[in-house]
Amino acid sequence: MTHKKAKLYIDIDGVLLGKKEPNDYEICLAGGIRDFLAYALWHFDCYWLTSRANHGDVRPALEALKPYADKVTMEMAKTVKPTTWSTLKTEAIDLKSDFYWFDDQLLQTEQEILKNAGCLDRWIRVDTRANYSGLIAGKQHLARLIQKI
Ligand SMILES: [Mg+2]
Repeated sequence: MTHKKAKLYIDIDGVLLGKKEPNDYEICLAGGIRDFLAYALWHFDCYWLTSRANHGDVRPALEALKPYADKVTMEMAKTVKPTTWSTLKTEAIDLKSDFYWFDDQLLQTEQEILKNAGCLDRWIRVDTRANYSGLIAGKQHLARLIQKI
């Protein structure tokens, strides 16, 4: 019997793409992205959860990363799976399942949906536009969470 991996939903803007300094105009890859993706893909069933790619097609997500990412990062990003949703990102999530969600900012409604389902703690807030190293801290937080299970 194989162990079923928990799902990990990953946003792009403000998570995989951030800023070196909060006041910069320029966007860059978040610090530690390769390490994060390698870890995430090894331990979790990974899905995009970004307004750039919400129609079940991963290509717009990959196009968003391409100007910034090296080949290794792109190869890993290509294995993240698509989701389909229209108004709220929570539409893409089975709230009864074992999941984690990396996002910089949820809508109030999305937060309420998670709260009502008793899973607000599954949202791991990472804001790499405000904190370049946010993804590294998020990964460490995630690692501690799964060690407790
Ligand atoms: Mg975002």
